[in-house]
Amino acid sequence: MNYVSTRNPKIRASDLQAVINGLAPDGGLYVQPDIPQNDKNIKCILTMDTISMAASVMKTFLPSFSEEELTALASRSFKGKFDNDDIAPAVTVGEDSVLELYHGPTSAFKDVALSVLPNLITASKEKLGVKEKVLILTATSGDTGKAALEGFKNVPGCGIIVFYPENGVSDVQKAQMVTQDGGNVAVCAVKGNFDDAQRGVKSIFSDNAFCNSLKNKGVLLSSANSINIGRLAPQVVYYYKCYADLVKNSKIRYGEKVDFCVPCGNFGNILAGFLALKTGLPVGKLICASNANNVLTDFLNTGVYDKNRELIKTASPSMDILVSSNLERMLYYAEDDKDKVAFYMRKLNEEGKYTVSQNTLCRLREIFSCGYCSDEDAIKNIGEVYHEHSYLLDTHTSVAWRVAQEYKKSAPSHNRVVILSTASPFKFPKAVLQGLGEECAGNGFELIERLSEKTGVSVPENLASLSKRDIIFKDVICADGMKEYVFNHIG
Ligand SMILES: *Cc1c(COP(=O)(O)O)cnc(C)c1O
Repeated sequence: MNYVSTRNPKIRASDLQAVINGLAPDGGLYVQPDIPQNDKNIKCILTMDTISMAASVMKTFLPSFSEEELTALASRSFKGKFDNDDIAPAVTVGEDSVLELYHGPTSAFKDVALSVLPNLITASKEKLGVKEKVLILTATSGDTGKAALEGFKNVPGCGIIVFYPENGVSDVQKAQMVTQDGGNVAVCAVKGNFDDAQRGVKSIFSDNAFCNSLKNKGVLLSSANSINIGRLAPQVVYYYKCYADLVKNSKIRYGEKVDFCVPCGNFGNILAGFLALKTGLPVGKLICASNANNVLTDFLNTGVYDKNRELIKTASPSMDILVSSNLERMLYYAEDDKDKVAFYMRKLNEEGKYTVSQNTLCRLREIFSCGYCSDEDAIKNIGEVYHEHSYLLDTHTSVAWRVAQEYKKSAPSHNRVVILSTASPFKFPKAVLQGLGEECAGNGFELIERLSEKTGVSVPENLASLSKRDIIFKDVICADGMKEYVFNHIG
């Protein structure tokens, strides 16, 4: 029982149960009260091949598995699914490095974790003797849905339903989802915006009578959201892998610290960086980059988390978020008084805001730096970086790039800076073309081709073939019909 709920230390679970449940029963997130240092020597881990490194790093968070089991699992998860066996190459751009996390099957960084999660759920079920089928329900604003579909398709003992807002995703994102193959998948549009779809999914999860009726049919509901520890553990791996590559390519010497700048939404990616730090990797600052929805920047500057503001729709939609779920885990680790976490979350729910003590804020600021970038600047920056370095950024990565440059100016004694790149520029061709000063009228498929023509960068295969694929899913329903949809889907 190595995990507890952030909101109540008496609610405990093994790593296996935490992977299957996703969320703790009291609505808290599962955390390890004491994050173990990697029992293997860090230097030894850094010389391993990618698959063995993944197994060693994940073992710290998933101790119920043997290293052999995790090696086999990592190999099953990654082999043949990414553009190359490197999974996430770190490339030098100007004086910094960019860690390209988008070379997976759907060209988004979520592929890294969502390639592993289905295998972790299956293996956890086997170890615990859970016989029910696990049905993943996901509301998506674009990237998570497709990456989860690709990860869970045809996984025995699992099924997945993705709900997306009818008019709330891009042409490319919609085409990626409605053409999904696989015998255990369903995709359905919901009238309304992302919040309506998200609320619908949450109300299904919290309807005990409905969940029990599904259980009687042999079905457990679960989530592929980044609150699952089975998504966090694989994300820690690429911080190690990146560090190893920087040493190998003589960008740093072993033991030197590295600063990582992360484009943040739900705070999962950057929290994985914190877990890398806690397990012993020489991490300097973690720089939290936001777009115009700068709730996190305000929080790290003032200690006040305040979501009472309008959500701004930007060209970096995966960062358009006002409640960053995984921050709850960070509060747990930063607070001396763990009871405070439940209190903050209650305040957030009731008043939309909470304030941490100066002490806690200081502790957070020792670890994190922060900054934000307007939409206009992020789009302009895509053109500037392309002309100066011949390197093409997507809109999310552009936000992080800008924030990283400002961080370096404000912290002259900074370490080598790595910018985490979370999506292929071809997923957001309109804004990228606009940043390059090119014509950006047309549908998503035309824009993808134009972007490739203008830059000579080749389109990832999964996006290039999209316009030729058959549309399989055409259902559009109202948000209050979602429960019925799930029920009928199970049959
Ligand atoms: C999900 C996502 C993010 C935000 O990551 P979090 O782990 O939620 O902070 C950033 N960029 C892209 C392209 C994403 O898909």
